Amino acid sequence: MFAIDCHDHIYIKRLAPKAVQSVGEFYEVEMACTGISDELIEIAGRSPVKRFVVNAVAPGPSSVKRLNDFMAKEKDAHPEFTALGTLHPGMEDVRSEIDRIISLGLKGIKLHPDSQGFDMDCREAMRIYEAAEGRLPVLMHCGDHRYDSSHPRRLVNILKAFPDLKVVAAHLGGWSIFEEAVQYMRELDCYMDISSTMPFIGEEKTLEYIRLYSADRLLFGSDYPMWSPEKEYETFMRLDLSEEEQRKILYKNASRVFDIDISDLEE
Ligand SMILES: [Zn+2]
Repeated sequence: MFAIDCHDHIYIKRLAPKAVQSVGEFYEVEMACTGISDELIEIAGRSPVKRFVVNAVAPGPSSVKRLNDFMAKEKDAHPEFTALGTLHPGMEDVRSEIDRIISLGLKGIKLHPDSQGFDMDCREAMRIYEAAEGRLPVLMHCGDHRYDSSHPRRLVNILKAFPDLKVVAAHLGGWSIFEEAVQYMRELDCYMDISSTMPFIGEEKTLEYIRLYSADRLLFGSDYPMWSPEKEYETFMRLDLSEEEQRKILYKNASRVFDIDISDLEE
């Protein structure tokens, strides 16, 4: 069964080694892969993970446009890629950059409050959600026991203000605070990905959360280059799920949320 990996970070080749190293240090994990797009293409060639939703995160307002151009180039060069744009709440012309993201053919926005240095529900970030509502889905990093900026309770405030905003809350809505996140995520009308989940809480606990939230809301993701998409796929396939649950999580939900054409892949 093929898969869409909905959560992959890629970097400008020249900058990748340093960037990947610093992510590893930030999360205190040994990074499995390089963060260079060629590696994902090789993985698509030899494994069931055939499509990647790639993203890049702007550390500040000044790198937003450059990174969105980079993402557009990457997805134009690689049919395996669906690319997300980046934004920063500190930039002035959010609305026109969203127009540009759409015209470049990018299919959503990736935000990482902790590494971009803003509170997920701050006033400036709300301008992004207002402009994206009904137009682009947001892949949102959620949860970190060391920080409060990406806490899932902030997502409740966002979806209350913008009920039609399509959100994929990464890492089951609360990386490293998976259990604390349940009280918020259970009631919310949003999707979640399972990236950076299995390596931290194991297969059994992941399966429990999948059952709690339901396969209808969940997307497969690896958080490449932190983890190997192939290995994450193998671990995922060991979970005791029905074939229909596997299909929803591996590709059906992602193809709908990010508008990915899978007609050549469907079995
Ligand atoms: Zn991420």
